[in-house]
Amino acid sequence: MRATRLYENKKPVISMEFFPPRTEKTIQAFGTVIDQLAVHQPDYMSVTFGAGGSTRDGSYQTVKQILEEKNIPTVAYIAAFGLGPEDICKVLDSYKNLGVETIFVIRGDEPKEEGFTPHPDHFPNASGLLAFIKKNYDFTLGCAGYPEGHLEAQSPEKDLKFLKLKIDNGAEYIVSQYFYDNDFFFRYVEKCRKLGIHVPIVPGVMPVYTLGMTRSLSQVCGSSITDALNAKLQAVDPKDSEAVLNLGIDFAVDQCRGLLKAGVCGLHFYTMNRSKSTGEIISQLKKESLLPA
Ligand SMILES: Cc1cc2nc3c(=O)[nH]c(=O)nc-3n(C[C@H](O)[C@H](O)[C@H](O)COP(=O)(O)OP(=O)(O)OC[C@H]3O[C@@H](n4cnc5c(N)ncnc54)[C@H](O)[C@@H]3O)c2cc1C
Repeated sequence: MRATRLYENKKPVISMEFFPPRTEKTIQAFGTVIDQLAVHQPDYMSVTFGAGGSTRDGSYQTVKQILEEKNIPTVAYIAAFGLGPEDICKVLDSYKNLGVETIFVIRGDEPKEEGFTPHPDHFPNASGLLAFIKKNYDFTLGCAGYPEGHLEAQSPEKDLKFLKLKIDNGAEYIVSQYFYDNDFFFRYVEKCRKLGIHVPIVPGVMPVYTLGMTRSLSQVCGSSITDALNAKLQAVDPKDSEAVLNLGIDFAVDQCRGLLKAGVCGLHFYTMNRSKSTGEIISQLKKESLLPA
Protein backbone atom coordinates (compact mmCIF):
# COMPACT_ATOMS: atom_id res chain seq x y z
CA MET A 1 0.00 0.00 0.00
CA ARG A 2 1.33 3.37 -1.03
CA ALA A 3 -0.11 5.96 1.33
CA THR A 4 -0.06 8.73 -1.25
CA ARG A 5 -2.35 6.71 -3.57
CA LEU A 6 -4.86 6.55 -0.74
CA TYR A 7 -4.66 10.29 -0.11
CA GLU A 8 -5.05 10.90 -3.86
CA ASN A 9 -8.10 8.67 -4.21
CA LYS A 10 -10.07 8.78 -0.98
CA LYS A 11 -11.12 11.41 1.50
CA PRO A 12 -10.90 11.22 4.43
CA VAL A 13 -8.27 8.49 4.88
CA ILE A 14 -8.43 6.93 8.35
CA SER A 15 -5.15 5.71 9.84
CA MET A 16 -4.28 4.32 13.26
CA GLU A 17 -0.87 4.32 14.90
CA PHE A 18 0.51 1.67 17.27
CA PHE A 19 3.78 1.05 19.05
CA PRO A 20 5.26 -2.43 19.39
CA PRO A 21 3.96 -4.04 22.59
CA ARG A 22 6.79 -5.01 24.93
CA THR A 23 5.59 -7.20 27.78
CA GLU A 24 4.22 -10.73 27.48
CA LYS A 25 0.82 -9.49 28.65
CA THR A 26 0.58 -6.61 26.16
CA ILE A 27 1.88 -8.78 23.33
CA GLN A 28 -0.92 -11.29 24.10
CA ALA A 29 -3.54 -8.52 24.19
CA PHE A 30 -2.35 -6.72 21.06
CA GLY A 31 -4.07 -8.99 18.54
CA THR A 32 -7.42 -8.28 20.20
CA VAL A 33 -6.79 -4.51 20.10
CA ILE A 34 -6.11 -4.75 16.36
CA ASP A 35 -9.24 -6.86 15.81
CA GLN A 36 -11.38 -4.41 17.78
CA LEU A 37 -10.11 -1.51 15.69
CA ALA A 38 -10.16 -3.39 12.37
CA VAL A 39 -13.96 -3.47 12.72
CA HIS A 40 -13.89 0.29 12.06
CA GLN A 41 -12.20 -0.33 8.70
CA PRO A 42 -9.18 1.96 8.86
CA ASP A 43 -7.48 2.55 5.52
CA TYR A 44 -4.16 1.68 7.08
CA MET A 45 -2.42 1.06 10.36
CA SER A 46 1.11 2.18 11.22
CA VAL A 47 3.82 1.04 13.60
CA THR A 48 6.37 3.26 15.36
CA PHE A 49 10.08 2.56 15.71
CA GLY A 50 12.29 3.29 18.71
CA ALA A 51 15.15 5.66 17.90
CA GLY A 52 18.56 4.02 17.98
CA GLY A 53 16.94 0.72 16.97
CA SER A 54 15.55 0.04 20.45
CA THR A 55 12.36 -1.58 19.10
CA ARG A 56 13.81 -2.94 15.87
CA ASP A 57 12.58 -6.53 16.38
CA GLY A 58 9.35 -5.54 18.07
CA SER A 59 8.50 -3.06 15.31
CA TYR A 60 9.22 -5.66 12.65
CA GLN A 61 7.10 -8.31 14.38
CA THR A 62 4.24 -5.85 14.86
CA VAL A 63 4.27 -4.74 11.22
CA LYS A 64 4.37 -8.41 10.18
CA GLN A 65 1.47 -9.29 12.47
CA ILE A 66 -0.80 -6.49 11.21
CA LEU A 67 0.14 -7.01 7.57
CA GLU A 68 0.22 -10.80 7.35
CA GLU A 69 -2.03 -12.09 10.14
CA LYS A 70 -4.60 -9.32 10.09
CA ASN A 71 -4.26 -8.48 6.40
CA ILE A 72 -4.45 -4.73 6.99
CA PRO A 73 -2.35 -2.28 4.94
CA THR A 74 0.54 -1.11 7.11
CA VAL A 75 3.01 1.76 7.13
CA ALA A 76 6.31 1.05 8.88
CA TYR A 77 8.28 3.81 10.61
CA ILE A 78 11.98 4.28 10.88
CA ALA A 79 13.42 6.64 13.50
CA ALA A 80 17.07 6.52 12.70
CA PHE A 81 18.73 8.59 15.41
CA GLY A 82 22.15 7.08 16.03
CA LEU A 83 21.90 4.37 13.37
CA GLY A 84 24.44 4.13 10.56
CA PRO A 85 23.52 3.60 6.90
CA GLU A 86 24.10 -0.17 7.08
CA ASP A 87 21.74 -0.62 10.02
CA ILE A 88 19.14 1.54 8.33
CA CYS A 89 19.38 -0.55 5.16
CA LYS A 90 18.96 -3.77 7.17
CA VAL A 91 15.74 -2.45 8.70
CA LEU A 92 14.45 -1.16 5.37
CA ASP A 93 15.36 -4.39 3.54
CA SER A 94 13.42 -6.38 6.12
CA TYR A 95 10.34 -4.19 5.55
CA LYS A 96 10.75 -4.37 1.80
CA ASN A 97 10.84 -8.19 2.01
CA LEU A 98 7.60 -8.11 3.99
CA GLY A 99 5.95 -6.18 1.16
CA VAL A 100 5.81 -2.81 2.95
CA GLU A 101 5.62 -0.01 0.38
CA THR A 102 5.38 3.10 2.59
CA ILE A 103 7.92 4.17 5.17
CA PHE A 104 7.34 7.05 7.59
CA VAL A 105 10.73 8.63 8.13
CA ILE A 106 11.66 10.38 11.35
CA ARG A 107 14.84 11.40 13.02
CA GLY A 108 13.79 10.28 16.49
CA ASP A 109 15.36 11.54 19.69
CA GLU A 110 18.63 10.59 21.31
CA PRO A 111 18.01 7.43 23.37
CA LYS A 112 18.38 8.12 27.09
CA GLU A 113 20.06 4.86 28.04
CA GLU A 114 23.58 5.19 29.31
CA GLY A 115 26.40 4.23 26.99
CA PHE A 116 24.46 4.89 23.77
CA THR A 117 26.91 6.09 21.12
CA PRO A 118 25.55 7.30 17.80
CA HIS A 119 27.15 5.75 14.71
CA PRO A 120 29.69 8.24 13.26
CA ASP A 121 27.73 8.38 9.99
CA HIS A 122 24.27 8.68 11.52
CA PHE A 123 21.72 11.16 10.18
CA PRO A 124 21.29 14.15 12.50
CA ASN A 125 18.09 15.29 10.73
CA ALA A 126 15.20 13.57 9.01
CA SER A 127 15.87 15.45 5.76
CA GLY A 128 19.25 13.76 5.22
CA LEU A 129 17.74 10.41 6.04
CA LEU A 130 14.93 10.98 3.56
CA ALA A 131 17.42 11.84 0.81
CA PHE A 132 19.38 8.67 1.60
CA ILE A 133 16.28 6.44 1.51
CA LYS A 134 14.91 8.10 -1.62
CA LYS A 135 18.20 7.48 -3.42
CA ASN A 136 18.41 3.82 -2.47
CA TYR A 137 14.81 2.55 -2.30
CA ASP A 138 11.48 2.71 -4.07
CA PHE A 139 9.32 3.33 -0.99
CA THR A 140 6.65 6.00 -0.71
CA LEU A 141 7.90 8.24 2.10
CA GLY A 142 6.15 10.29 4.76
CA CYS A 143 7.46 12.69 7.38
CA ALA A 144 6.38 14.43 10.59
CA GLY A 145 5.20 18.04 10.94
CA TYR A 146 4.59 20.13 14.05
CA PRO A 147 1.67 22.60 14.03
CA GLU A 148 2.94 24.22 17.24
CA GLY A 149 6.58 24.00 16.14
CA HIS A 150 9.08 21.31 17.10
CA LEU A 151 10.47 21.71 20.62
CA GLU A 152 14.06 22.11 19.40
CA ALA A 153 13.23 24.39 16.48
CA GLN A 154 15.38 27.52 16.27
CA SER A 155 12.29 29.42 15.09
CA PRO A 156 8.89 28.56 13.54
CA GLU A 157 10.19 29.87 10.20
CA LYS A 158 13.28 27.64 10.31
CA ASP A 159 11.16 24.66 11.35
CA LEU A 160 9.00 25.17 8.25
CA LYS A 161 12.08 25.66 6.09
CA PHE A 162 13.37 22.27 7.27
CA LEU A 163 9.95 20.74 6.67
CA LYS A 164 10.15 21.99 3.09
CA LEU A 165 13.58 20.37 2.82
CA LYS A 166 12.05 17.05 3.92
CA ILE A 167 9.54 17.35 1.08
CA ASP A 168 12.22 18.36 -1.42
CA ASN A 169 14.25 15.34 -0.29
CA GLY A 170 11.47 12.85 -0.93
CA ALA A 171 8.64 12.97 1.62
CA GLU A 172 5.29 12.80 -0.16
CA TYR A 173 2.92 13.31 2.75
CA ILE A 174 3.05 14.76 6.26
CA VAL A 175 1.41 13.49 9.45
CA SER A 176 1.13 16.15 12.10
CA GLN A 177 1.96 16.05 15.76
CA TYR A 178 -1.27 16.16 17.73
CA PHE A 179 -2.79 19.44 18.94
CA TYR A 180 -5.80 20.38 21.03
CA ASP A 181 -6.86 23.45 19.07
CA ASN A 182 -7.72 22.98 15.39
CA ASP A 183 -6.64 26.53 14.61
CA PHE A 184 -3.02 25.49 15.22
CA PHE A 185 -3.42 22.95 12.43
CA PHE A 186 -5.31 25.21 10.03
CA ARG A 187 -2.74 28.01 10.40
CA TYR A 188 0.09 25.52 9.95
CA VAL A 189 -1.39 24.15 6.71
CA GLU A 190 -1.84 27.69 5.43
CA LYS A 191 1.81 28.52 6.13
CA CYS A 192 2.97 25.28 4.48
CA ARG A 193 0.95 26.02 1.34
CA LYS A 194 2.40 29.54 1.16
CA LEU A 195 5.89 28.01 1.29
CA GLY A 196 5.07 25.74 -1.64
CA ILE A 197 4.42 22.55 0.33
CA HIS A 198 1.54 20.95 -1.54
CA VAL A 199 1.61 17.35 -0.28
CA PRO A 200 -1.23 15.94 1.90
CA ILE A 201 -0.98 17.12 5.52
CA VAL A 202 -2.80 14.72 7.83
CA PRO A 203 -3.89 15.91 11.28
CA GLY A 204 -2.84 13.70 14.18
CA VAL A 205 -5.52 13.09 16.82
CA MET A 206 -4.56 12.14 20.37
CA PRO A 207 -7.57 11.53 22.64
CA VAL A 208 -7.10 12.10 26.37
CA TYR A 209 -6.60 8.61 27.83
CA THR A 210 -5.50 9.48 31.36
CA LEU A 211 -4.76 12.82 32.99
CA GLY A 212 -1.18 11.83 33.78
CA MET A 213 -0.43 10.69 30.24
CA THR A 214 -1.96 13.81 28.71
CA ARG A 215 0.05 16.13 30.93
CA SER A 216 3.38 14.33 30.53
CA LEU A 217 3.07 13.75 26.76
CA SER A 218 2.18 17.37 26.26
CA GLN A 219 5.62 18.32 27.65
CA VAL A 220 7.50 15.75 25.58
CA CYS A 221 5.63 16.38 22.34
CA GLY A 222 5.24 20.15 22.56
CA SER A 223 1.45 19.92 22.16
CA SER A 224 -0.08 22.47 24.47
CA ILE A 225 -3.04 21.77 26.70
CA THR A 226 -5.33 24.61 25.71
CA ASP A 227 -7.45 26.54 28.19
CA ALA A 228 -10.57 24.86 26.82
CA LEU A 229 -9.15 21.40 27.44
CA ASN A 230 -7.60 22.35 30.75
CA ALA A 231 -10.97 23.55 32.06
CA LYS A 232 -12.45 20.14 31.24
CA LEU A 233 -9.52 18.27 32.79
CA GLN A 234 -9.89 20.25 35.98
CA ALA A 235 -13.62 19.62 36.17
CA VAL A 236 -13.35 15.83 36.00
CA ASP A 237 -12.73 13.59 39.01
CA PRO A 238 -9.15 12.36 38.40
CA LYS A 239 -9.94 9.05 40.11
CA ASP A 240 -12.85 8.35 37.77
CA SER A 241 -10.93 6.80 34.89
CA GLU A 242 -14.08 6.19 32.85
CA ALA A 243 -15.13 9.84 33.13
CA VAL A 244 -11.63 10.89 32.01
CA LEU A 245 -11.79 8.52 29.04
CA ASN A 246 -15.25 9.79 28.06
CA LEU A 247 -14.09 13.39 28.33
CA GLY A 248 -11.26 12.47 25.94
CA ILE A 249 -13.66 10.83 23.51
CA ASP A 250 -16.05 13.81 23.51
CA PHE A 251 -13.23 16.32 23.10
CA ALA A 252 -11.69 14.36 20.21
CA VAL A 253 -15.07 13.89 18.49
CA ASP A 254 -15.56 17.64 18.63
CA GLN A 255 -12.07 18.23 17.24
CA CYS A 256 -12.60 15.69 14.43
CA ARG A 257 -15.96 17.27 13.58
CA GLY A 258 -14.18 20.59 13.00
CA LEU A 259 -11.39 18.98 11.02
CA LEU A 260 -13.71 16.96 8.80
CA LYS A 261 -16.00 19.92 8.17
CA ALA A 262 -12.92 21.86 7.06
CA GLY A 263 -12.21 19.11 4.52
CA VAL A 264 -9.02 17.50 5.89
CA CYS A 265 -7.55 14.69 3.80
CA GLY A 266 -7.52 12.22 6.68
CA LEU A 267 -7.47 11.58 10.41
CA HIS A 268 -4.48 9.86 12.01
CA PHE A 269 -5.28 8.39 15.43
CA TYR A 270 -2.58 7.95 18.04
CA THR A 271 -4.19 4.88 19.59
CA MET A 272 -1.56 4.24 22.28
CA ASN A 273 -2.47 0.57 21.65
CA ARG A 274 -5.95 1.10 23.12
CA SER A 275 -9.10 0.39 21.15
CA LYS A 276 -11.99 1.97 23.03
CA SER A 277 -11.45 5.70 22.42
CA THR A 278 -10.53 5.54 18.75
CA GLY A 279 -13.35 3.05 18.11
CA GLU A 280 -15.96 5.20 19.82
CA ILE A 281 -14.76 8.40 18.14
CA ILE A 282 -15.07 6.80 14.70
CA SER A 283 -18.50 5.30 15.53
CA GLN A 284 -19.79 8.70 16.61
CA LEU A 285 -18.44 10.40 13.46
CA LYS A 286 -20.15 7.71 11.37
CA LYS A 287 -23.41 8.24 13.26
CA GLU A 288 -23.22 11.92 12.37
CA SER A 289 -22.48 10.97 8.74
CA LEU A 290 -19.16 12.81 8.94
CA LEU A 291 -17.50 9.52 7.99
CA PRO A 292 -18.99 6.97 5.60
CA ALA A 293 -20.74 4.10 7.46
C1 LIG B 1 3.53 11.47 13.41
C2 LIG B 1 4.76 11.31 14.27
C3 LIG B 1 5.28 10.03 14.44
C4 LIG B 1 6.42 9.83 15.24
N1 LIG B 1 6.92 8.56 15.37
C5 LIG B 1 8.03 8.35 16.09
C6 LIG B 1 8.62 7.05 16.18
O1 LIG B 1 8.13 6.08 15.60
N2 LIG B 1 9.75 6.91 16.92
C7 LIG B 1 10.35 7.97 17.53
O2 LIG B 1 11.39 7.76 18.17
N3 LIG B 1 9.84 9.19 17.46
C8 LIG B 1 8.69 9.42 16.76
N4 LIG B 1 8.17 10.69 16.67
C9 LIG B 1 8.83 11.79 17.40
C10 LIG B 1 10.01 12.36 16.61
O3 LIG B 1 11.03 11.42 16.50
C11 LIG B 1 10.54 13.56 17.40
O4 LIG B 1 9.62 14.59 17.36
C12 LIG B 1 11.91 14.04 16.96
O5 LIG B 1 12.35 14.99 17.94
C13 LIG B 1 11.95 14.78 15.63
O6 LIG B 1 11.85 13.96 14.56
P1 LIG B 1 11.68 14.61 13.09
O7 LIG B 1 11.72 13.54 12.10
O8 LIG B 1 10.53 15.51 13.07
O9 LIG B 1 13.05 15.45 13.02
P2 LIG B 1 13.60 16.56 12.03
O10 LIG B 1 12.70 16.82 10.89
O11 LIG B 1 15.00 16.19 11.74
O12 LIG B 1 13.58 17.86 12.96
C14 LIG B 1 14.10 17.84 14.27
C15 LIG B 1 14.51 19.24 14.70
O13 LIG B 1 15.68 19.66 13.99
C16 LIG B 1 15.44 20.86 13.26
N5 LIG B 1 16.13 20.66 11.96
C17 LIG B 1 15.73 19.88 10.95
N6 LIG B 1 16.64 19.91 9.96
C18 LIG B 1 17.63 20.74 10.38
C19 LIG B 1 18.87 21.17 9.82
N7 LIG B 1 19.25 20.77 8.59
N8 LIG B 1 19.64 22.01 10.56
C20 LIG B 1 19.26 22.43 11.79
N9 LIG B 1 18.11 22.03 12.37
C21 LIG B 1 17.31 21.20 11.67
C22 LIG B 1 13.92 20.97 13.14
O14 LIG B 1 13.53 22.33 13.06
C23 LIG B 1 13.47 20.33 14.43
O15 LIG B 1 13.53 21.25 15.49
C24 LIG B 1 7.04 10.93 15.88
C25 LIG B 1 6.50 12.22 15.71
C26 LIG B 1 5.37 12.41 14.92
C27 LIG B 1 4.81 13.78 14.75
